[in-house]
Amino acid sequence: MSNLAKLDVLVFGAHPDDAELFCGGTICSMTSMDYRVGIVDLTRGELGSRGSASLRTEEATEAARISGVSVRTNLGLADGNIENTFDNRLGVIRVIRRHQPEIILMNARECRHPDHGAASELVGECTFYSGLRRIESFDAGESQEAWRPKHVLEYVQAIPFEPSLVVDVSHVWEQRMASLMAFKSQFYNPDYKNNDEPDTYISNEGFLKSVEARARMQGLRIGATFGEGFRNFNGPIGTKDIVATLMPE
Ligand SMILES: [Zn+2]
Repeated sequence: MSNLAKLDVLVFGAHPDDAELFCGGTICSMTSMDYRVGIVDLTRGELGSRGSASLRTEEATEAARISGVSVRTNLGLADGNIENTFDNRLGVIRVIRRHQPEIILMNARECRHPDHGAASELVGECTFYSGLRRIESFDAGESQEAWRPKHVLEYVQAIPFEPSLVVDVSHVWEQRMASLMAFKSQFYNPDYKNNDEPDTYISNEGFLKSVEARARMQGLRIGATFGEGFRNFNGPIGTKDIVATLMPE
């Protein structure tokens, strides 16, 4: 039996909740149009000040259910130490080849959390290397074919940059926030009580407001209520027909 599980879009994040935090609306928008979307979390987020690796795994499963994601995988790399090693590259290459996505979304270099930049470097390189057939990889004992995604986009995080593409996520905003709130231990939630755990940068109510503010600012750029910004990793996007590209409807 083949291990291939073809997806349209594969979303990488350094930690469980990166995908939902930075591009959850885009994920919900794509699944609402019946595109097959997968998420790959590089680490279990075991260094997080709140919750635990096992609780975050449960939360990630629930978030994926809410957003309609087809598959969610955790590569189990070390939180706080995402290294660009041959073994780690092979793990990323294996999951890209397994799902053969046309589009990959991933962390950008610009962020206050160093893991996000490290994840961007690691995954960015693998989007190229996965297309080299002489890099051999195996999935459950089966040799994999080389695969290079057509497009790679970096999502805007805490440090803004000028996006080359903004996705209108207004119509899925409530679903998008529900998938984020599935990470009960991480974000503001008056029902989550664990008095031993400290408040963090992301666990206060103001942070959630900043998530909305960021989406409103991106939306404003394209005349939408809420938007999510991306930068094309490999330079400009080519077209032969600017009308079809710019006026798709
Ligand atoms: Zn993160």
